[in-house]
Amino acid sequence: MTKFNEPETLKMAKLGRELRAQGIDITDLSLGEPDFDTPDHIKEAAKKAIDDNFSHYTPVSGFLDLRQAVCEKLLRDNGLVYTPEQIVVSTGAKQSIANLVLAVVDAGDEVVIPTPFWVTYSEIVKLAGGVPKFVKTTIESGYKITPAQLEEALSPTTKLFMFSSPCNPSGAVYSKDELAALAEVFKKYPDVYIMSDEIYEHIVFEGKHESIAQFDFLKDNIIIINGLSKGFAMTGWRLGYIAAPLAIAKAADKLQGQFTSATCSITQRAAIAALTGDLKPTMEMVEAFRNRRKTVLELMKDIPGLLCSEPTGAFYVFPDVHSFFGKKTPDGNTIANADDLIMYLLNEAHVSTVSGNAFGEPNCIRLSFANSVANLEKGFSKIKNALGALK
Ligand code: PLP
Repeated sequence: MTKFNEPETLKMAKLGRELRAQGIDITDLSLGEPDFDTPDHIKEAAKKAIDDNFSHYTPVSGFLDLRQAVCEKLLRDNGLVYTPEQIVVSTGAKQSIANLVLAVVDAGDEVVIPTPFWVTYSEIVKLAGGVPKFVKTTIESGYKITPAQLEEALSPTTKLFMFSSPCNPSGAVYSKDELAALAEVFKKYPDVYIMSDEIYEHIVFEGKHESIAQFDFLKDNIIIINGLSKGFAMTGWRLGYIAAPLAIAKAADKLQGQFTSATCSITQRAAIAALTGDLKPTMEMVEAFRNRRKTVLELMKDIPGLLCSEPTGAFYVFPDVHSFFGKKTPDGNTIANADDLIMYLLNEAHVSTVSGNAFGEPNCIRLSFANSVANLEKGFSKIKNALGALK
């Protein structure tokens, strides 16, 4: 049986729920989902789809008009030209990533992943029998891979490169110039596929989201991952998609046809409303995240020992906490690493966070600001007290 791990994010949410069931007031800063409701026009489209009896199996890759809507969105928001045959809609970006990795990675293939990365990347590569090759990025480079690092990491045996911009967990957003510089390196490796995970594209606080797929000479190498979960507050509806070279799209369709078939027909009809509709509710949500980000960055300044890069996208802060390693808790236990620290914060401060280990960055922890300002203030105040009690 292949060895791979349960997602750390889900594990922390589960532990938090268990403590809450015991009557303990847990502030949950571990989960990666907007705390907003799905916009009304999307909900209305779903209700209509139920009344119109969209109750049957759909094409595995999704309704044709949905895939057309994805193509329209890619043109409108990203200036990218795709045809519906290149789009495969799935039950979430997570499944889209699995489809892609299982389609292209064979046993022993090398997959380059800059750290920190989203928890699932490494595990799904291992599941496919691939070998993740991690490239450490630093707080100094804003947790972005440099062209020189990329050049050094790629080799003729590299099959796939996986990254997200905006990045979960660091909040790093690559600029057009930065992507152009990476694209020049990729040009020398025409056999490497590039997975560009753009699920947080709408949640950007400075500048604007740029896709590496805009560099035409890489078009046959790039697989865009996207979905509705984050930008439209639709995590439970389960819809993601890839935009890919035709051969990859066909392979993803074949795999999905055996695993799950298409995602829910009602969700697909609602997705058309989301993708073609007004982005105002999304932008309002982003404004709220922008204010919370400001609040959180101010609260963190007040906590000695936390070293934080400012996120320019997504809804997480990812402070370096290594200054607490080696310290003792009031009970006399030593905090050896980030895993110990998050368990201490959960059990003593009653705040749920996620260890950076899960994201390939053992000196950090991830805290989500997809929570009300009141909860953020409460959570960070409890964290401050708990960290202050470490000696
Ligand atoms: N990619 C990244 C970077 C994410 O953070 C997440 C969810 O946390 C996903 C993909 C998966 O999203 P979905 O809910 O569409 O499966």
